[in-house]
Amino acid sequence: MQSWERARRTLREKIGDRDFETWVQPLRVAEPHAGKVAVFAPSKFYRDWVSRHFLDAIRASFCSDGEDPPEVLFQVETGRQRELFAAPTPEVADNSSSAAPVVRRSVLRVGNLVPRYTFANFVVGTSNEFAHAAARAVATRPGEKYNPFFVYGGVGVGKTHLVNAIGHAVLAKNPFAQIVYIPSEGFVNDMIAALRRDRMDEFKSRFRKVDLLIIDDVQFLAGRERTQEEFFHTFNTLHEGHRQIVLTSDKYPKDIPDLEERLRNRFEWGLTADIQAPEMETRVAILQKKAEMEGLSLPADVASFIASEVTANARELEGALTRLAAMASLQSSEMTVPFAASVLGPQRRERLRTVTMDEIQRAVSDHFGVTLSEMKSKRRTQRVAFARQIGMYLSRRLLSTSYPQIGQKFGGRDHSTVIHAQNAVERRLKTDAALAAAIEKLERTLTQRTT
Ligand code: ADP
Ligand code: MG
Repeated sequence: MQSWERARRTLREKIGDRDFETWVQPLRVAEPHAGKVAVFAPSKFYRDWVSRHFLDAIRASFCSDGEDPPEVLFQVETGRQRELFAAPTPEVADNSSSAAPVVRRSVLRVGNLVPRYTFANFVVGTSNEFAHAAARAVATRPGEKYNPFFVYGGVGVGKTHLVNAIGHAVLAKNPFAQIVYIPSEGFVNDMIAALRRDRMDEFKSRFRKVDLLIIDDVQFLAGRERTQEEFFHTFNTLHEGHRQIVLTSDKYPKDIPDLEERLRNRFEWGLTADIQAPEMETRVAILQKKAEMEGLSLPADVASFIASEVTANARELEGALTRLAAMASLQSSEMTVPFAASVLGPQRRERLRTVTMDEIQRAVSDHFGVTLSEMKSKRRTQRVAFARQIGMYLSRRLLSTSYPQIGQKFGGRDHSTVIHAQNAVERRLKTDAALAAAIEKLERTLTQRTT
């Protein structure tokens, strides 16, 4: 399916500038999601006219060769929505350095949600079945019963995945839902930026008008009094309006230090659910799921072997599988237990040692021949940008640091830039065995160096 950006170009060519300007320009069109496209029309008249005259053209414009056209759903825009869209929309640019507000024109997009973090891709086991069932219930009836929904658990156990899945499910049911996913540090950054630019009203109205607000890793609000205050009011407004709030944290609300009592208290109003480290069976199932998604063949005995060696969490499992697949393709080896043991064996012990972001930046800049200050600069030459992406990727892999914190250390970039970097590197690793080997080696030196 084409993005709207592309589709609109096709459409303009097809129907001509004049009709385009008159009829299409005033529409707000969401990115296609689950075979559906939500279109907001400024009035009933527009809606009827456009659906009578341009529906087929719009549908066709989204298709690449041979694809089925999406279903197009029209809705007349409400005042609330108009206001939301009227807000300035900073670019979600890859290299944007400012703390870009997260609610952009893209509230309509799946953009803030990680595409692959869906319920379909989420493996359910005893460690997460309660949280999963609760998440399903929340997605079915957002804002009704379990508000807020508070998910807590250790690093890499699937909190971010699960809350994104709620967002996808809500969107699939109602393509017009206004959804914001934001790591809590993004909320902090956006607020600071709004304060600095004297745009607090705008900030407030953005967050207070969504149907589903997902704030990831709220423990990072600790000690941020001004942000907590603002969030408290946002929370109340949404809650009173029966809008769904979903929160994650590494701890139970009561155990988050430096959090205002009234917030802590509210976090427990709805439903809290924890996710534990996955047990053996779930670990095997997660590996099989990932292998299936990546089109890797993973023999059962190798899956069991990895699952018995890598026990900490799902993220580690994923990392082990990626590494294994990369090494197998590089050395043209079969995926066997001895091979897995040779790749994973040494790695595992090393991972227990701590690495710092400074060390990662230094190692990456050495390896790619860029200077440390270039890494942290705003320069966008391909060489520098690439090294920076690798640095971000490694930081995310080796440290339990949040996206916004990583962005901060790489020249004050936005969390979305870090997520983008991580995805870009992961994609590339699948086809670039030399890069996989280089990263493997970097990781090894890094984790060995700091005994
Ligand atoms: P957290 O937010 O708790 O630190 P994430 O949601 O980022 O953890 O999960 C880390 C990785 O592990 C993600 O790539 C996610 O897709 C994967 N993962 C976690 N739990 C599951 C699960 N139950 N099924 C499939 N993948 C999972
Ligand atoms: Mg997370």
